[in-house]
Amino acid sequence: MRDKKVKIAIVGAGVSGSSAALYFANIGLEVTLFEKERSIVNGPPFCHLHAGGNLYREISDEQCVKLLKQSIDFLRFYPFIVDYRPTVIVLPTTDPGTPEALLPRLEMLTEQYRQLIHEDPANKVLGESSAYYKLYSREELEILKKKTLVKKPEVADEWMIPVAQNIDLDKVQFPLILVQEYGLNLFRLASGVTLALKESKNVTLRTETVVSNIQEEWSVGGWNVTYVQNDETKEEHFDYLINAAGFRSGKIDDLVGVECKSMVEFKAAYISKWDNNADTLWPEVIFHGERGTPRGMGQFTPYPGGYFQLHGMTKEITLYEDGLVANSVVSCQPHLKQNFMTKIERSWSEEEINERTRSAITHLSQFIPEFSEATVGSKPLFGAQQIPGSDPTLRVAEVSFPTKRYARCEIVKVSSSLDMIDAITQQLIDLGYLEPSVKGKREIKVLKSLDDNTITKYGEVLCEEREYPRDLAHRNVSNVPCTKQ
Ligand SMILES: Cc1cc2nc3c(=O)[nH]c(=O)nc-3n(C[C@H](O)[C@H](O)[C@H](O)COP(=O)(O)OP(=O)(O)OC[C@H]3O[C@@H](n4cnc5c(N)ncnc54)[C@H](O)[C@@H]3O)c2cc1C
Repeated sequence: MRDKKVKIAIVGAGVSGSSAALYFANIGLEVTLFEKERSIVNGPPFCHLHAGGNLYREISDEQCVKLLKQSIDFLRFYPFIVDYRPTVIVLPTTDPGTPEALLPRLEMLTEQYRQLIHEDPANKVLGESSAYYKLYSREELEILKKKTLVKKPEVADEWMIPVAQNIDLDKVQFPLILVQEYGLNLFRLASGVTLALKESKNVTLRTETVVSNIQEEWSVGGWNVTYVQNDETKEEHFDYLINAAGFRSGKIDDLVGVECKSMVEFKAAYISKWDNNADTLWPEVIFHGERGTPRGMGQFTPYPGGYFQLHGMTKEITLYEDGLVANSVVSCQPHLKQNFMTKIERSWSEEEINERTRSAITHLSQFIPEFSEATVGSKPLFGAQQIPGSDPTLRVAEVSFPTKRYARCEIVKVSSSLDMIDAITQQLIDLGYLEPSVKGKREIKVLKSLDDNTITKYGEVLCEEREYPRDLAHRNVSNVPCTKQ
């Protein structure tokens, strides 16, 4: 073990880079986190904790099990970002699949969750394993339809009342499925991680700083990182380099000079306002459909204050013509067309915001007729995400190590960040930079001591800075899992 503190450079302060910075600083490494934007966790959005991967019928059981485990770990690591409202899975009558076809996977996930609780009772963060999912027949929904809305739903049936009252039951197949997949709040994560990093004495956070060059230092080992901050160019030496640059990871790979195979996909989710439902607590509702067709999956994600975030997996809503690109033989960086880069780096036209948000409202109104009265709530949440390899349906990936002392983060879902960190930790142990005893130590005291109100207040500041409604930083009033049935 070395006498001097090991110095780590992390390029990119999205979920992966910021979480890694917190973790490695906590176990005593000296971390510098470089971020080109003004604030951190400001990349592509996230709203759903994929605790079982039930939004993705096309992925393998193996990916679903990993998503379940990683989501439980993530929820335990960042409890303050979770909105404890369940998700309801609906298959439209037009869908060629059936709800029955989903049941074996749900049973398998229930058993996996039961085992995870058996291994460590602290894993019981999604309620009882026996309540992981629940089915609703048409008869049951007709009964719930007549019930009075519950202000703070606690049991599955209470969460189903707004669904029963608002969904066109003639357009869907039965049973409907309620599953314990919760909401994730992007602004609360950005806020909490910023506050935690401020308290971490081993982290230097350099925002509004672009990493512009990287040179391997052969004589002593490690990397000389050149960066531009306030129009000044500086260089610093690091023992280990973590590329957490998100969809721009290919640029860092090119600077380092390694091989790669990856894709980048631009996508957007739209913010609508439905004033008539501002006081109703909804679950998230998923209307399955074939991706990329006009019947693509619809995702109806509630926020406080009557805001609903919408995805529609059609080319007119969330997906885009030419929105998915791969890297070439000459560069690791896949190139998105200029219109996408303009959206990411500058702004959207009012016209496109209105057009796409209205298309999203129309898409969801097929199943929730009264939702057609919703209006545009704000600019969309959007961004480009990396997908390693060549399978665009891949949903679980963590990190790769294309050369010595270099980690390339490759998360597709935010919950994969902790397994990513574990894999990098193992590399650092192998290099003699860390003692093997640090492995698996995920307790970060500062995260546990953050004050909820302070997280909300700074989350609101971030919403304003980024031109979103302040309500998006608030969590749903229900802050316990829906454990009973
Ligand atoms: C529409 C949409 C919806 C999504 N929904 C979900 C969801 O519900 N659940 C989920 O788990 N995931 C979701 N995702 C995926 C999720 O957003 C990403 O997996 C995740 O945000 C990636 O985090 P990251 O830290 O790897 O990258 P990023 O968040 O992109 O962070 C990379 C950072 O690196 C910085 N950077 C890049 N180059 C440099 C440089 N040279 N110098 C300095 N800084 C640099 C960038 O500014 C950026 O802040 C969604 C993605 C999209 C597009």
